[in-house]
Order: sequence, then C-alpha cells, then structure tokens
Amino acid sequence: MTSSIIKNQPVQDGLSGEQLFSAQIGLTYRDFLVLPGYIDFNPSDVNLESKVSRNITIKRPLISSPMDTVTESAMAIALALQGGLGIIHYNNSITEQVNFVRKVKRYENGFITDPIILGPENTIEDLDEIKEKFGFSGIPITEDGSFNGKLIGIVTNRDIDFEPNRTVKLGTVMTTNLVTAPVGISLKEANNILRVKKVGKLPIIDNEGKLVAIVSRSDLKKNKEFPDSSKDHSKRLLVGAAVSTLPESRDRVAALYDAGVDAIIIDSAQGNSSYQIEMIKFIKANFKNLDVIAGNVVTKEQSRSLIEAGADGLRVGMGPGSICITQETMAVGRAQATAVHMTASYAAQFGVPVIADGGISNIGDIANALAIGASTCMMGSMFAGTNEAPGDYFYENGIRLKKYRGMASLEAMKAGGDKRYFSESQKIKVAQGVSGAVVDKGSVINFVPYLIQGLRQSFQDMGHKSIPELHEALKNGTLRFERRSESAQAQGSVHGLYSYTSPTMRVE
Ligand code: GDP
Ligand code: 5GP
Repeated sequence: MTSSIIKNQPVQDGLSGEQLFSAQIGLTYRDFLVLPGYIDFNPSDVNLESKVSRNITIKRPLISSPMDTVTESAMAIALALQGGLGIIHYNNSITEQVNFVRKVKRYENGFITDPIILGPENTIEDLDEIKEKFGFSGIPITEDGSFNGKLIGIVTNRDIDFEPNRTVKLGTVMTTNLVTAPVGISLKEANNILRVKKVGKLPIIDNEGKLVAIVSRSDLKKNKEFPDSSKDHSKRLLVGAAVSTLPESRDRVAALYDAGVDAIIIDSAQGNSSYQIEMIKFIKANFKNLDVIAGNVVTKEQSRSLIEAGADGLRVGMGPGSICITQETMAVGRAQATAVHMTASYAAQFGVPVIADGGISNIGDIANALAIGASTCMMGSMFAGTNEAPGDYFYENGIRLKKYRGMASLEAMKAGGDKRYFSESQKIKVAQGVSGAVVDKGSVINFVPYLIQGLRQSFQDMGHKSIPELHEALKNGTLRFERRSESAQAQGSVHGLYSYTSPTMRVE
C-alpha cells in the first residue's frame, strides 16, 4: 500500500532552471544551490568531456583567460596536457603571440611532418639557438639542410653536450648510424620501433632516403603520463588565442592560423558590435577549420547577433571578474549566473556552446556554471597564482604571491591591454579593472586534478555522470535548484570558528 502511494505520487520539489531564472533579479553562483540527485555510480565514472565550440571538444571543462598575468605558453601547455585549454593573450606583438602558439603546438606530436632540420654545415651554435627557442635538440641532418633532403644523420644532446667549441660543424658530430622507418608506417608501428630500439627519434624516410617526418620518443611518455590531454588530429596540443576587433587583428589571425592555432577568441568586453560581426565574418570566410569564439555577451539579443554572424562558441560574462570594476564604472553588465543561463539556453538551440567567463572562485562555482548550461568555464584568478602563470613570485607580509591584473587596469592598458574596451585612441583612460596579487597555488599540474576530483564528486551528488546528461536534466526540468537566502549563504560557508585554513590556498 505505502509503496504504491510512493510510486504514484510526484514528489519533485525545488525549482527547474527556467523557474529559478524567471525571477526578475540577477543571480550569481552564490545565490542558488543544486538539489541532490540519486547516486548509483562513483566519482571516477563521471565523464567531464565538453564542447568549447562547435568543433572543439576537450576532456575537462577548464579554460584559462587570455590575460597577460594568466596565459602564455607554459599555462597553455600545462592545461592542455590535463585536458583543458589555454587561450594566449594578445597584449604583445604578433610575433610574440605566434611564438607562444608555436611552442604549444610543438610540445607534443604524432608524426612531426614539419620538423626543424639543419645541414652538415650548420654549427652547434645553430642548434643551441633552436634548443633555446623550442626546447628540443634532436635534429635530423639532411644533405642540403632542407626538409625533404636526403637524410644523412641526426644530432642529439648526447653528441654535443661536452663540446666546448660551439662553432664545430654538425657534420662532424652527428650520429650516422640511424634507425629509420619507411613512409606509410602507422604511428602505432613507429612507436613500437621507438620502444624496441630504444632510440629518441625515429626519422621516417621515402624510398630515396629523403626525410618525410620524425616521431619522438618523449611523445610516447607524455601520452602515457597525460592520457586525457587536449589534442588535434595530428596529436598536437590544442591552443586558442585571443585577438581584438581592431583592423590589425586581421594580420594577427592570419599569422596565428599559420602557426596552427585551433580557436580564435574575439576579445571584447561588450561583444555586440559591428566591429566584432565584421571580424567573425572575415575569419569564417578566410580560414578553414578555425573555430571562432565570440563575445563577451550576457543577453540573448547579443548572442543572436554573434551566432547569426557565424560564431562557433560564445564567451559569457560582463563584469563578474575578480579584478573587474565594469559594473561600477559603466553600470552595464549582468549578474553572472543569470547571464550564463540566458545565453546558454538560447545558444543551445543552435548547437553553440557557452563558456562561463569570470567570477569563478571555487569548485562549487564551476559545478554551478555547468549545471545552469555552461559547457566550459574560463578562469583568471583561479590560475593566476600558479607556477605556469607569467611573472615571478614575490613576498608580502611573509605570504608568497603573484601579480594578477585586469586587462583594463590602468597598468595593463598602458602596456596595450585595452583593445577589448574600444578606448585605445582615447586620451583619458577609464579603468574597468584593477591590479592586485593572488596567493601562490603551486603548479597547475597538481591544481587541476584537485579541481577535477572535486567536480566529479559534485556531479555524483547531483546524480549525473556527464555534462550533456546534466544539460538534458536542466532542459527537461528534472535538475532542481533552490534560491539561497543571505542567511543560507552564511550558513553554507565556514562560520563560528576562531580561525581556519582554506584548503585551496596551495595544492601540493
Ligand atoms: P630532444 O631530445 O632535445 O629533441 O627533446 P625531447 O625529445 O625531449 O623533446 C622533443 C619534443 O619536441 C617532442 O615532444 C616533439 O614532439 C617536440 N617537437 C616538436 N617539433 C619538433 C621538431 O621539429 N623536432 C624535434 N626534435 N622535436 C619536436
Ligand atoms: P576571474 O576568473 O578572475 O574572476 O575573471 C577573469 C575574467 O575577467 C577574464 O576572462 C575576462 O573576461 C575578465 N577581465 C579581465 N580583465 C578585466 C578587466 O580589467 N576588467 C573587466 N571588466 N573584466 C576583465
């Protein structure tokens, strides 16, 4: 009797996503909670794969902000290795930004079909230069020093380590006893040769002995150590780069495209502009297989303009950033959770994923952003204090810190960072961001697994095993939410203690 009553009675409480956001008031991540679901799986069963844009999928929904105190090549490499994605900032020259992208794309490979080559007449100094620029020194030597020339040797660290005279020609120190493989071999077979023969590099040659590609042993190791890394079809790490809507960005996009960038983010604080629409159209018309992520937007109307122009993804947020004072100075923007839900529910109809950008300061914020429709999360302050963020650590009152500044802080604007705010030619600069410092968090390589484990546990509590499943529950109303009063927020945070240590300060 009791069991049939239980079965037949609907017992859903709380609010659907639509009901939660129908309140005529802007909500932030702190203003609501997801109600628990049903657990019949382990955190390790949770799959966090998600779409960044129409054609780019990554294993972990974490993206680093294109800011000059957050993302250069070290951050982008570390995040991509862990299944996330780094977006290289553009507060630099085209050459500098392109070099950061190249470094990421060259970090890990399958077949390297455009390896750096030298000839027998080059010197050890030339090799030192390559090592300095790209970080590797296993270089094939061809007869005439050109790619597709006849392979005559290979130089590795072991050939030159102890040579004091750096003007010695490579032809005299190279190893000529080579293990090679014929063109047409599969990557699996090539990797097997690397394993069995215990060599560092495997040159692939055609039947005339001309070099076609190389395969590197260290990529085997990287692949084993980071099985979930974000990679393109050539097994190179994925990387994005930001550009402004200014005309100079057309050359920048072309150079980034040649360097192999996977996605361009058009970086603008208020994305709904004719400049941005022209830029989206220009990129879509001129560059094949290059995804364009447009933004920033916070309304359906803004999203419509950019999707209509051809955007493959949207970046959402105006004013929620930790270093941001836009809402105070401009009185324009939107509370971040409302912005994410409104744009994501609209964009989902067109298969366009949304990146929740800014205002994320803990694992719960990431989980909340995903639960209300975001496909990935972009973070600045979360990654700014890590070893891989640009800049040096310093001490203040005995605490180890790193600088973190808004791209529209006066300091960053002086260095050219105000291109996203339409203010470059203006004499009086009104800051929309501040400059500050964040606490040392150690390496991203340790920090990301901590975030991921927390997220998996959160998904388990919500009762969902993947982001698409969570989004389906959001759409059909089975995912339930509750608004939090101020006292509920206070109760949900640490309270009543004399002192405590935050667990996220530094992850060892
Ligand atoms: P090396 O022994 O000093 O060459 O360095 P490693 O073998 O440790 O590193 C080589 C790494 O650089 C691998 O991950 C390669 O995929 C990557 N790489 C990218 N482009 C090139 C290239 O043109 N030549 C070489 N040798 N490695 C490259
Ligand atoms: P956080 O993760 O630190 O809360 O926010 C990072 C985000 O803030 C960036 O991805 C970017 O969208 C935004 N942002 C970066 N610099 C500035 C700035 O100077 N002013 C404003 N309004 N937003 C900024």
